[in-house]
Amino acid sequence: MSVVNLLDFDLEGLAAYCESLGEKRFRAVQLFRWVHQRGEHDFERMTDLARSLRQRLAGAAEVARLRVLSEHVSSDGTVKWLFDVGGGNAVETVFIPESDRGTLCVSSQAGCAVGCRFCSTGHQGFSRNLGTGEIVAQLWHAEHVLRARLGAAAGERVISNVVMMGMGEPLQNYAALVPALRTMLDDHGYGLSRRRVTVSTSGVVPMIDRLAQDCPVALAVSLHAPEDGLRDELVPLNRKYPLAELLQACRRYLPRAPRDFVTFEYCMLEGVNDSPAMAHRLVALLQGHGSSDLQGLSVPCKLNLIPFNPFPASGLKRSSPEAVARFAAVVQAAGIVTTIRKTRGDDIDAACGQLAGEVLDRTGADLRMARRRGSIPIQAVGVEVPR
Ligand code: SAH
Ligand code: SF4
Repeated sequence: MSVVNLLDFDLEGLAAYCESLGEKRFRAVQLFRWVHQRGEHDFERMTDLARSLRQRLAGAAEVARLRVLSEHVSSDGTVKWLFDVGGGNAVETVFIPESDRGTLCVSSQAGCAVGCRFCSTGHQGFSRNLGTGEIVAQLWHAEHVLRARLGAAAGERVISNVVMMGMGEPLQNYAALVPALRTMLDDHGYGLSRRRVTVSTSGVVPMIDRLAQDCPVALAVSLHAPEDGLRDELVPLNRKYPLAELLQACRRYLPRAPRDFVTFEYCMLEGVNDSPAMAHRLVALLQGHGSSDLQGLSVPCKLNLIPFNPFPASGLKRSSPEAVARFAAVVQAAGIVTTIRKTRGDDIDAACGQLAGEVLDRTGADLRMARRRGSIPIQAVGVEVPR
């Protein structure tokens, strides 16, 4: 019989598992609290469980931790772990400390099938989905290792926010994502507020609708372009779910969301999407003045401008701080709350979109990407990018 990984279960799943062992629900709550709140993986040390149960668990179940391949700590306190997920695949997780919060950036897949032009994960191709246990294990590891390291008092949490902004497209791994989110939110688990757990997506429209039903959390949508032609090139998924459909899905999401706005992410690429004219088109799109099907409809939102983190194979350049400021000024003048993301962990390649892991390219995505790159009418292509 194969060994069951308890990190694969949300509380309901664990209750069902305990029931299959003839145990009552409150045992599942105790077990869940030991694993997630106290970071315990050794059943022998779960002293308030009956010895007979502990012995049965020891034979049948485990808390499957991820093997750490490397850990880097940045001069600004950012920590990046590279975890082995087997078969030559690795995923990255990043902890970003700030004065008022601790944010963990979590991966959902080894590689990514969406293949965005400016994303180093996308350039690797897709290897496989992570299981719920592998998503949760990133939080389990970070929370409990950092708690011990920082000498946190009992019950004190280090991680207050989770963003699904590591490697992969979380809404293309929906079945594993939802129990992981529920474990993050559960008061017996990590007890995170819905407002402080963010799913970031490149725009998988049907799954945005399902998330609203199954587990509404804060939503971030990676926009990157105000018109379909350019977005088709930057985020290939746009060909399947174009902007009008995507923004309508955002509007449908909001009534169930824990926040009354969607965060739009916009990666600033020099000469590609960073001109004041693009900023005006973006305002028109978001405020419903454009020529699209969204005419007359606006999306309550905040805009997050991300300075592009270059990597050589992208052939793209980061917008200058002046271009970012000019773009922000146009959007802000139209009343859209806009922030410019600070780059953190630059010295350890932990910044957004630099998470490369060591995923095997089994899909030929590098080749497809090279072809796609050749077809893109973007001036910055081929420019040597300084790191
Ligand atoms: N697949 C999801 C979540 C992971 S990517 C998504 O695309 O939203 C998290 C964020 O990093 C996205 O907004 C993505 O567009 C951005 N990103 C990817 N590559 C980047 C890069 N090289 N520089 C800056 N941001 C990048
Ligand atoms: Fe995948 Fe997101 Fe990277 Fe696009 S930006 S390739 S969706 S991880």
